[in-house]
Amino acid sequence: MSKDERSPLAGRHVLSVGQFDRELLGTVFGRAREMRRMVESVGGGRALADRVLTCLFYEPSTRTSSSFLAAMQRLGGRVIPINGVQFSSVGKGESLPDTVRTLGQYSDAIVLRHPEEGAVALAAEYSPVPIINAGDGVGEHPTQALLDLFTIQEELGQLDGLTVAMVGDLRYGRTVHSLTKLLLLYDVRLRFVSPDTLRLPMALRNQAEAAGRSIRETHDLSEVVREADVLYATRIQRERFSDTAAYEQVRGQYLVDLLLLRQAKERMVVMHPLPRVDELAPEVDTDPRAAYFRQVRNGMLVRMALLTLVLGQ
Ligand code: ASP
Repeated sequence: MSKDERSPLAGRHVLSVGQFDRELLGTVFGRAREMRRMVESVGGGRALADRVLTCLFYEPSTRTSSSFLAAMQRLGGRVIPINGVQFSSVGKGESLPDTVRTLGQYSDAIVLRHPEEGAVALAAEYSPVPIINAGDGVGEHPTQALLDLFTIQEELGQLDGLTVAMVGDLRYGRTVHSLTKLLLLYDVRLRFVSPDTLRLPMALRNQAEAAGRSIRETHDLSEVVREADVLYATRIQRERFSDTAAYEQVRGQYLVDLLLLRQAKERMVVMHPLPRVDELAPEVDTDPRAAYFRQVRNGMLVRMALLTLVLGQ
């Protein structure tokens, strides 16, 4: 993008993948590739040298928070990290609107993770600076979906024409919700593998059907593994269950291991938003199809791209 052309995301909140179309995704991915070349050749740049980002996390995070931090640092920017909200004024009962109104006085954007669906939209109403959704409860995780889609594109060289199988907790897994919505922009076949109680939310199933995509739901992973170009495994979201018994009933039902992958295509990718618990065997890590740590790396590059588009020119 030339310097005088304004970014379509400049100064805007990033709350949902619904804001992205194929063209905008192409812009983000092109920028992420530029970031890759820059990081690999000189480590980083100064595009955000005068910018400050707040990372406000009301839920645990390793990759999302540290990759936003790394992204800012590699672009010369600075970060106010607030990870233990119990140590901030939130612990004194401060409301989310007051917290973001305050942090917006110090920083140029706020990356926000919150346990309640819709909290980021509320924050956006009050924040004087862009809010970037880093996960709102069981709702969405748009920046994860951007990096997931980018990973598929980079690994397989295409998005149209693929069969994507998602397995695990499709009900509470916000990464699945966001990725499914983005994939509907492409000509893909979607396979959803979960226990009955953890099926994809009805609204999303309807959306996928309305988009005219080939969809199949099953309990049986071995039914879809052969046709999958992408196998996207997810953790059962323990923290979303109100009682331990219900969690215990569904945990450990699926395992992606080398035995399962014997049935899979030679050219396919295994992805996972991480953290993994017991659904993805460590023995898979050395299989060339295991893309999840490359996916982690892409997370930083895509977030660098997004930050330059929201905060830069
Ligand atoms: N890290 C992802 C998320 O925050 C996936 C997970 O926690 O299972 O949604």
